[in-house]
Amino acid sequence: MDRFDIIIVGAGPAGLGFARNMADSGLRIAIVERLPEAVLAEPPEDGRDIALTHASEAMMEKLGMWAHIPSDRYGVIRDAKVVNGRSDYALHFQSAASGKDYLGRIVPNHLIRQAAYRQIKDQPDLELICEATVETVSAGQVGLADGRILHADLVIAADSRFSETRRKMGIGAEMTDFGRTVIVCEMSHDLPHDNVAIECFHYDQTLAILPMHGRVSSVVVTLPTDMAGAAMDMPAPAFAADIQARFGNRLGGMKLITTRVAYPLMGVFAKRFVARRFALVGDAAVGMHPVTAHGYNLGLTGGGLLADSLKNALAEGRDIGDLRVLQRYERAHRKVARPLYLGTNALVKLYTDTRLPARILRGAALRLGNRLPPVKDRILRQLTQIEA
Ligand SMILES: Cc1cc2nc3c(=O)[nH]c(=O)nc-3n(C[C@H](O)[C@H](O)[C@H](O)COP(=O)(O)OP(=O)(O)OC[C@H]3O[C@@H](n4cnc5c(N)ncnc54)[C@H](O)[C@@H]3O)c2cc1C
Repeated sequence: MDRFDIIIVGAGPAGLGFARNMADSGLRIAIVERLPEAVLAEPPEDGRDIALTHASEAMMEKLGMWAHIPSDRYGVIRDAKVVNGRSDYALHFQSAASGKDYLGRIVPNHLIRQAAYRQIKDQPDLELICEATVETVSAGQVGLADGRILHADLVIAADSRFSETRRKMGIGAEMTDFGRTVIVCEMSHDLPHDNVAIECFHYDQTLAILPMHGRVSSVVVTLPTDMAGAAMDMPAPAFAADIQARFGNRLGGMKLITTRVAYPLMGVFAKRFVARRFALVGDAAVGMHPVTAHGYNLGLTGGGLLADSLKNALAEGRDIGDLRVLQRYERAHRKVARPLYLGTNALVKLYTDTRLPARILRGAALRLGNRLPPVKDRILRQLTQIEA
């Protein structure tokens, strides 16, 4: 029989981040992952560039992950602008107003995954079980396809928004299929981006251009799913010309420098984050629409909150799988995640509605946002997680 204190299913950024958070706990941890370890060590590019809040950057620093991110591979977002349709009017968020030099940094997802792996690979008391398929899950127990039965005081699901582990534990989730697909890639351009991120809400598509290192930007195109295939199949020069035109030539000539990756957009909020001897972290708990760039940030904060609850329980001599211990995490995480989830979904709805009243409301919202400093400050603090 294999006995651990904690079993984590899923070695994605959330599962690994949580494991790293528990490094000083003295607990024996197993991480079960279906990918081979070589892929965790050298994750392939997946097109996602992750905008990090200040809180996440600080957490990555604390966990020793930031040191693995090469300085010529991340971008700095100094200011951000939101534009409605073809209008030049923008809701403008400035780092100067936040008291920081920048709103956030933006890092390719595969480098975050690699950094997290490098930090846990030699962690004492941690066993990585790769190329493993989970067959059964129950409170404190995970059965693998090779017949191994793992036991622990606590099982944690960190196996993505479509978490099979969550489903096997009978925990439902609220799911919103946005009927849209996001296409992500990086493009080089002739003019400097000046470290400004721009989000353009066109009537049926959304285009976000996020500043990476040098004259390179991360491009995020959200479009109705039935149009995604054509955009993916478009020859690279035609795709680049289309983005350049829709971006109003703000960056001069643009060129596609990576492959395009498409993700169908689905929001997920689990009905419960915990059960006896069981907890959800990362996208398995809350899978966000990427427009407000909160998914990984929330996964990292949530992993930190769960680790705090468990360490407090250990200090009090309590069982880490006790439901009341886990409910402390659930309350704290839900308080942060629920408003962000609902707010993001409402924003997506407003900005993808092509009807006239919604278009007028969008224009008004941008102007109101600019003219009401308290509203703008609040949004800014939510987006960046900078304390007031
Ligand atoms: C286009 C796009 C842009 C984004 N931009 C941002 C952003 O700017 N800022 C931000 O904060 N977030 C962003 N996100 C969200 C962010 O990428 C996710 O929140 C984050 O990757 C979730 O991490 P995770 O570890 O929970 O899940 P995942 O990254 O999905 O990892 C899950 C892991 O579990 C493994 N696994 C799955 N099922 C099993 C199983 N049954 N058994 C064993 N292992 C299993 C998988 O192989 C994988 O390794 C973006 C997402 C997308 C799609």
